[in-house]
Amino acid sequence: MAMVTLTIDGKQVTVPEGTPIIEAARTVGIDIPSLCYLKDINVIGSCRVCAVEVERAKTLQAACVTPVANGMVVHTNSPKVRAARKTVVELILSDHPFECLTCPRNLNCELQALAERLGIRTVRYEGAHREERPVDASTPAIVRDPSKCILCRRCVSVCEKIQGVYAIGPYGRGMDTVIGPAWRETMGNSSCVQCGQCVLVCPVGALYERDYTNEVWAALQDPTKHVVVQTAPATRVAIGEPLGLEPGSISTGKMVAALRALGFDKVFDTDFTADLTIMEEGSEFLERLKKGGPLPLITSCSPGWIKYMEEFYPELSENVSSCKSPQQMFGALAKTFYAEKAGIDPKDIVSVSIMPCTAKKFECNRPEMSDSGYQDVDYVLTVRELARMIKEAGLDFKNLPDEEYDAPFGIGTGAGLIFGATGGVMEAALRTVYELVTGKTLEKIDFEDVRGLTGLKKATVDVNGTEVKVAVAHTLANAKILLDKVKSGEEQFHFIEIMTCPGGCIGGGGQPIPTDTEIREKRIAAIYEGDRQLPLRKSHENPAVQELYRTFLGHPLSHKSHELLHTHYKKRPRHGTMTVKYGVTPAEEETAASNGHDT
Ligand code: SF4
Ligand code: SF4
Ligand code: SF4
Repeated sequence: MAMVTLTIDGKQVTVPEGTPIIEAARTVGIDIPSLCYLKDINVIGSCRVCAVEVERAKTLQAACVTPVANGMVVHTNSPKVRAARKTVVELILSDHPFECLTCPRNLNCELQALAERLGIRTVRYEGAHREERPVDASTPAIVRDPSKCILCRRCVSVCEKIQGVYAIGPYGRGMDTVIGPAWRETMGNSSCVQCGQCVLVCPVGALYERDYTNEVWAALQDPTKHVVVQTAPATRVAIGEPLGLEPGSISTGKMVAALRALGFDKVFDTDFTADLTIMEEGSEFLERLKKGGPLPLITSCSPGWIKYMEEFYPELSENVSSCKSPQQMFGALAKTFYAEKAGIDPKDIVSVSIMPCTAKKFECNRPEMSDSGYQDVDYVLTVRELARMIKEAGLDFKNLPDEEYDAPFGIGTGAGLIFGATGGVMEAALRTVYELVTGKTLEKIDFEDVRGLTGLKKATVDVNGTEVKVAVAHTLANAKILLDKVKSGEEQFHFIEIMTCPGGCIGGGGQPIPTDTEIREKRIAAIYEGDRQLPLRKSHENPAVQELYRTFLGHPLSHKSHELLHTHYKKRPRHGTMTVKYGVTPAEEETAASNGHDT
C-alpha cells in the first residue's frame, strides 16, 4: 500500500494513502473533534466540527472526508479553526433545547462535552426555533426525541450499514429535516428491531432507552412484593465502566453485592438459564439431525434477530429454534418452579432482568411471554439504567466486597457465560452436543474458529463421524448475507448462530456509552477469561440444571419444557424502509407506496 507523508500541527505523519486527516491526526495523538464521524460507518462531513486548515487550500476542510496527500501541511488548532468550530457549535446550540439537567445524556453527551471543550459560554445566534417535535415513546425499548437531534445521521448509517434494517432516515428539507421511520411513522410502527445500536452512537440525547428504573424502585419499596433479579452474561464485563472501572473488568461479585444493597430479595444469574437453553436447544438440534430437518437450526436467543426474522425472513421461522431466550426461560421458571419452591404466590413476584440489550424490553412485553400465567419478566433494565440506580443509591461500586449469587438459579457454567460474546452460544452448544453424542470428554474445549469479531465465521466439527457444519453471524447485515446464501443453496449448514449486535451481547444496545471496537474487544477478552476461571465449563455439567430436570422438568424437550421454555413466532407485516433519497415529495411517496417501493 502506498504511504503518504504530511505534517499535522508541526508533527510529521506517515499513513496509508486515502487515510482521512482525522485518522492521520489520531496516530500522533491529536484528537480532532467531530459530532457526525464514525470511522468506516458515517463519513459524510455533515457537522463541519472537524474543520481544519490545510495550507494552500482556499477554505477550511472537513478532516473526516479529506484524504491526506503527500507534503500536505495541516493546522488543527489555528485561530481560524477555533473560530469556525465555535461558530458551528454555537449554531447547533442556537437550535437546541437547553435541557441538560434533565436529559438522559447529561454528563455523557458529546455536544455538551464539545461545548465545554471549546469554552463556549454564550450563544451569539438567535436560532430558527423549529416547530415543536414530539417525543416518540411508541416502543417499550427506544425513545426518540427529535427536538434534540443534531442531524448527524450516525443512527441512519448504523441502522443501514450495520443492521441492514433501514428503519430510519431523513425526511423534510433544511431546517425541517427530521430523522425517523419511513412515512413519518412512529418507531413502534416501523421495521425497527429495537436493538439500540442507534442509541449507542447518537452523540446526544435524541435516542435513548425507555427507562423503567422508577417502576423497579417502586417494586423494591413495596413490602408486599418479592423482587427477584437476573443478570445476563455480558452485564458483568461492562457494568464497571460507568462506575469507575476499566473496560474489560469482571465485576460479577460487585454487581451481585450492589443489587442486594439496592434491595432485591434474590439475585440470580441468567447464566443458569443460558445453560438450560443449551440443554433444550442442543437436544432440539440432535432431534432434527436424527429426523433430517428442518435444518439449519438457527439460534433464537437474540430478540432483535427474532423480530427481524419475523418481518424479513418469515419463511425461515421453522428453522429457528423454538427455545425462548435465557431471559424468558428464567422469567417463566421464576413464577412457577421458584414460586412453588419458595412458597410465594407468583402474583407477588416481580421479575426484573439486567440486560445489555434494549430489544429485551420489547421481548418481555411480547404477549406470548406469559406462560407462567403472568408476564414472565416484568421489567428489563439495561446496564446503563442499573448503573444509574447504583449511583443514585450512593454505592461505592469499586470498593464493594464481592458477593455470591443466590441459590437455586445462581449457578452458571463457563458455557453459559460465553453466551455474552458472538460465537458463544455455538461454542457452548458444541461443548454439550459433542459430549452427549459421543459419550467422550472433549479434549479441546475451546472452539477458537467461532470466536472473535469477524462478521461471519464458519467451522466444521466432527461429531461421532458426522461432519457438522456451523456458521456464526453477528449484526443483522451479516446475518442477511449468510441467510441469502443459505436460501439460495450456495452454502449449507447444520447449525447457525445469529446475534443482533456487533460482537454479540457485549456490544448490545443497552451497554454503557461509549461502546466501540476497542471496548468490545476488551469485554470479549473478559468473557473468555471468566470462562477459563470457572470450575464448570459445560452446560450439561451444571448441577442446578440437572436438579431442575430431576425435580421439575423431567427431561429436555419434555411436555413441561415445551410449555414453559419454548415459544412460537409470527409473521409480521412488512413496513416501509428508509433508503436515503432526499427531497421526496408527498406525491412521490404515494406513488412509491402504491408500487410497494421504498423511499
Ligand atoms: S443532548 Fe446533550 S446538550 Fe442537549 S440537552 Fe441533552 S445533555 Fe444537553
Ligand atoms: S434500534 Fe436498531 S433497528 Fe431500530 S432504528 Fe435503531 S439501529 Fe435501527
Ligand atoms: S437521532 Fe442522534 S444519531 Fe440520529 S441524527 Fe439525530 S443526533 Fe444524530
